[in-house]
Amino acid sequence: MKVTRATFDEVMVPNYNPANMVPVRGEGSRVWDQNGEEYIDFAGGIAVNVLGHCHPALVNALTEQGNKLWHLSNVFTNEPALRLAKKLTDATFAERVYFANSGAESNEAALKLARRFALEQFGEHKNEIIAFNQGFHGRTFFTVTVGGQTAYSDGFGPKPGAIKHCDYNDLAGFEAMINDNTCAVMIEPLQGEGGIISPDPDFIKGVRALCDKHNALLIFDEVQSGVGRTGQLYAYMGLDVVPDILTTAKALGGGFPIGAMLTTAAIAAHLKPGTHGSTYGGNPLACAVAEAALDVVNTPQVLNGVTEKEALFRQLFAQINEKYAVFDEIRGKGLLLGAALNKNYQGRARDFLVAATDEKLMCLVAGANVVRFAPSLIIGETEIREGMARFERAVAHVVSA
Ligand SMILES: *Cc1c(COP(=O)(O)O)cnc(C)c1O
Repeated sequence: MKVTRATFDEVMVPNYNPANMVPVRGEGSRVWDQNGEEYIDFAGGIAVNVLGHCHPALVNALTEQGNKLWHLSNVFTNEPALRLAKKLTDATFAERVYFANSGAESNEAALKLARRFALEQFGEHKNEIIAFNQGFHGRTFFTVTVGGQTAYSDGFGPKPGAIKHCDYNDLAGFEAMINDNTCAVMIEPLQGEGGIISPDPDFIKGVRALCDKHNALLIFDEVQSGVGRTGQLYAYMGLDVVPDILTTAKALGGGFPIGAMLTTAAIAAHLKPGTHGSTYGGNPLACAVAEAALDVVNTPQVLNGVTEKEALFRQLFAQINEKYAVFDEIRGKGLLLGAALNKNYQGRARDFLVAATDEKLMCLVAGANVVRFAPSLIIGETEIREGMARFERAVAHVVSA
């Protein structure tokens, strides 16, 4: 059966608007479409493909587990899930792991756990959740309402309640908002979808201190910032702040759907048998792939490589900007970078993305004013230079158009 981009409009719910080309194959940081055209991938499946496409370690894990055991449900546990949970707890502050299938579900679990913890420890009055404007936490109705963009949560009827929003990096505003009725604070330790915004060191430390003061749980949503993306296994490790609950997904499976919520034993104890669950959560196939991804990512070679590659990207961005003067700044950390457009190009991030696709480069946007880059953590220097040469041609095209 011949399918094309046109088929999308005939059979798919129109909630997405994908590019005109249809990719069919990938290897490392290169992708080929139906016509055999080759693309450089700086999008990484939205910060997912940490090891590029078809990394041998992941293909091996998938095929090996695929020949053994695919699925059980949580009526039984399984070896890959137990090994992955052991490695995640060994590598982080956490002592307990809950597996889900996506970032939204991991956050949903975190929020439900926080509500339950507060209810059981302090009583019904302690139920308020504070999150941040422009924050993104997924698309279930609870998580999208906690997210800080009403454009995503409006239009679906009555919303989950007791959720407030504060400006990111506004510690005084946050201090005015938090009180003893606050049960949890959900925050990205580097805002992704909202425009690649780094936290001020004093702000994030202040948030931690105020959560302690008011007995509120601090939830770090590391769905985008986690698994090596910033050059540390998790972004909190570079901030000198430890959360009570951390969620991770996207890159965790290196392209296979999986998410996880990590926390301490004392907090985890409030999700007793039957209180929460997922049929697929902790699926052996997903966990086997994630274990292999974690084994590769959580090494000094890969993590240090992220910082080196960031430097090369920043140098090449600066060269482009010297010629074309389109960016205000390059934001972000590690290989989650945002080129923020200057006042002459406000609202035009998508034009740069479309021009890049025409030049055979895959990239992303983060809002209307930021072109976002989230390539493989092991992308080669050749691909970085070739991709940036293509990006320069895209920039030249937008500037001259
Ligand atoms: C992508 C993202 C999510 C949602 O993850 P899904 O797997 O799409 O549900 C949640 N939080 C952050 C910070 C994200 O970037």
